[in-house]
Amino acid sequence: MIVRTAVLERLAELAKLGAYERGIDRTLFSPAEHAARRKFADWARASGFALEQDRVGNVFARRDGAPTGRAPIVVGSHLDTVRTGGAYDGAYGVVGALCALERLGAEGATTRHPVEAVAWAGEEGSRFPLGCLGSGAYAGLNTLEAIEAIVGDDGISFPTARDGPSGLLPGVPVRDGFPRPAACLELHIEQGPSLERAGARLGVVSAIAGQVRSEIDVVGEAGHAGTVPLIVRHDAFAAAAEIALALETLARQLGECVVTVGYLVVEPNQTNIIPGRVVFRVDARSVDDTRVERLEAGLRDECSRMEIQRGVTCGIKLLERRAAVPMDGGLRAALHTALESLDNKLMPVPSGAGHDTMCVATVAPAAMIFVPSAGGRSHVGDEYTTPEDLELGVEALVRAIVAVDRLLAEKA
Ligand SMILES: [Zn+2]
Repeated sequence: MIVRTAVLERLAELAKLGAYERGIDRTLFSPAEHAARRKFADWARASGFALEQDRVGNVFARRDGAPTGRAPIVVGSHLDTVRTGGAYDGAYGVVGALCALERLGAEGATTRHPVEAVAWAGEEGSRFPLGCLGSGAYAGLNTLEAIEAIVGDDGISFPTARDGPSGLLPGVPVRDGFPRPAACLELHIEQGPSLERAGARLGVVSAIAGQVRSEIDVVGEAGHAGTVPLIVRHDAFAAAAEIALALETLARQLGECVVTVGYLVVEPNQTNIIPGRVVFRVDARSVDDTRVERLEAGLRDECSRMEIQRGVTCGIKLLERRAAVPMDGGLRAALHTALESLDNKLMPVPSGAGHDTMCVATVAPAAMIFVPSAGGRSHVGDEYTTPEDLELGVEALVRAIVAVDRLLAEKA
């Protein structure tokens, strides 16, 4: 039997924060995101868990284990969203982790490791141009100094936002440094269609896709849209469009990879002026790193082609590079055994989306559980997972924590 938790009510409460007609906008250190972190802290405090935050905005709610001095198992996800986010991406994993800790408490379970429910800061990279900002810092992939040098899309620096009224939570102790965990778990919606198509309700993630984000600065020549003949133009937008379409064609040919241009700024962005400059970003992903490398090579080739054919210049700046991350084999096996009685179609599933766990997996064994996304839709306002699947996922997470705790204690 599945025990009802507070997961649905809490997700409904969080969904109000940052809601507008196109979905939920809750970027890191915005008032809505701050309110979401404060709710998480309030719920955790009310349940008697000790709270801490760190200097990048990660928040930890701790349930102590048997006094063995072991490092914690960290379990969580993120509360920030993309600019048109839904109610489940990230928030589900944070609330689910908290509900799982409460379940362990209600059952009087004693774990050999402390277990921390964590809200990782700024996973989406939709304000500050760095995905998995909080978990990446926690894992030591980016230094605090490097993160403090970042400026958001709104021109506000990371330290200014963090130290402002929507930054770190008042009254919550700030940790020094980023201590290593014993293991990392994350519960998340799939954001793709594999589970739904297979009729499965739970998936154990096999690997998380690698990703490269690049920014391309195309400089052409602005001019009158009526008087400059096409033959002598250096249209920066036309060049950017050709590059984007060529990359899409290449990705189709390669298979098992995706490429997206979702950010594009046109200057001067006037109907009657030839675009003189375009800055756009390319996001390329695959669970096979060699395919991402092929896409990067394709980007360089296409930029060179446009420089010759259209007389523009193309500067390529690497924003972010992450290799594909396989999940820990031991943890995956333990999860499979612990969860198979919950879903007879339980299956391994790759993750096309990046997750905080891919960062923490570089310093500790890590695993993820997916529940289905209706229609595979996510990063949209109407992303949806059934209440029954949301509750089943929390039950799965409780069992996963217990299984991983036991596995690690046996190994030690
Ligand atoms: Zn997410």
